[in-house]
Amino acid sequence: MEKQQGNLFYIETYGCQMNVADSELVASILVDNGYRQASDIDAADLIIFNTCTVRQHAEDRVIGRISNEMSRKKQKPHLKIGVIGCVAQRLGEKLLEVNAGIDFVLGVDQYKSLPMTLRFLDSWGVKHCSDFNSEQSYEYHSPLRSGKHNAFVTITRGCDNYCSYCIVPYTRGRERSRLASEIVREARQAGEAGFRDITLLGQNVNSYNNRGATFPDLLEMVNDVESIRRIRFITSHPKDLSARLISVMQKSNKVCEHIHLPMQSGNTEILKRMNRGYTARHYWKLIEKLRDAIPNIAITTDVIVGFPGETEEQFDDTMEMMKRLRFDAAFMFKYSVREGTEAAGFENEVPEEIRLERLKKLINLQTGITTEKYQQQTGLTKEVYVEGVSKKSTAELSGKTRDAKVVVFPGDSSLIGSFVNVEITDAIGWTLKGRQLSKE
Ligand code: SF4
Repeated sequence: MEKQQGNLFYIETYGCQMNVADSELVASILVDNGYRQASDIDAADLIIFNTCTVRQHAEDRVIGRISNEMSRKKQKPHLKIGVIGCVAQRLGEKLLEVNAGIDFVLGVDQYKSLPMTLRFLDSWGVKHCSDFNSEQSYEYHSPLRSGKHNAFVTITRGCDNYCSYCIVPYTRGRERSRLASEIVREARQAGEAGFRDITLLGQNVNSYNNRGATFPDLLEMVNDVESIRRIRFITSHPKDLSARLISVMQKSNKVCEHIHLPMQSGNTEILKRMNRGYTARHYWKLIEKLRDAIPNIAITTDVIVGFPGETEEQFDDTMEMMKRLRFDAAFMFKYSVREGTEAAGFENEVPEEIRLERLKKLINLQTGITTEKYQQQTGLTKEVYVEGVSKKSTAELSGKTRDAKVVVFPGDSSLIGSFVNVEITDAIGWTLKGRQLSKE
């Protein structure tokens, strides 16, 4: 139990990897200003909720959670509770109306002002700031990593794409690319601290551009960082994935054979109304180019069914595309309206039961494909980065292949953090089973 009172913070993070990376950044800003990380929420003098608003449900959930935690103030009157992230950005001052107990609300470009906000919280009238600052890229910080083996390095912030269903451009602001030198410094620092697997993060990493350095340039620079063994990146956008990027992926030995490339729909008309900026044919050709260049590449995707106005034929185009492209795995969603987006004003909403029916069909199809693809791994030898003990059995270890598949195999916990060659013996759902051949 920590004895010193007044400067222990705890951050509870919701949503995507960008939010996880932002929490690591906020933690570093606090530590640089004399705060210390609490071992758990009960020990904290300062609780920060880093929130997600991608769907209304996510927003409602976190607002409910914050309200529940307010009762802690009765036992600990000095406790401060703040809200940051996408809900803070979207609702700003309104959050203080929803819950008067919240001490401060800071939007995504305001994290550097956190120490000052905390210092003057009781004397300043203003408890919220969600102004966008398109210059803010949070350079020259060293995130306080929460993972043990995989480090996430933010390369771009914000998004300029305005897909018609997506709230992100309104909560994260305009796209900006961080300095290549800072990204390389962070990657090197993470590698030297023992993180061997680095993921470069952005809403659309492919459009990275800082002072003429493009995403393929950046990948080459990070590939030269000695202490790193594997490089991944999310998320890619099909309209910005260049031939040069495919070539750099092919040549760079540390860039893993996996890409997550959201397709969203297999129908060009729907893609147009989603404002995705590519056709179904362009997407399909891209996948061919990727597989021609890197035959063993694993490709995963995102798909939305039941977008407003989607006909049965247009949905069938998506099904056909899934059969043709045979993704390793897919995250599949039924469309849900997000207030504040362009698509929220679209007519011809697809009835809920049809959206559900289409989602079930798609999931059935993809489950069959994923099962076959995973079964085909049997007999192969894979390099596995051992990340921990398996959740199901303490006698087994769990790790990831270069092509982003989870492998579980019997082994001693001393192997955690090392690279092991594993022969794949079976596939159960989205998990490969194996036996250890050798340790590198
Ligand atoms: S690319 Fe589209 S879906 Fe992705 S964050 Fe930007 S607007 Fe949203």
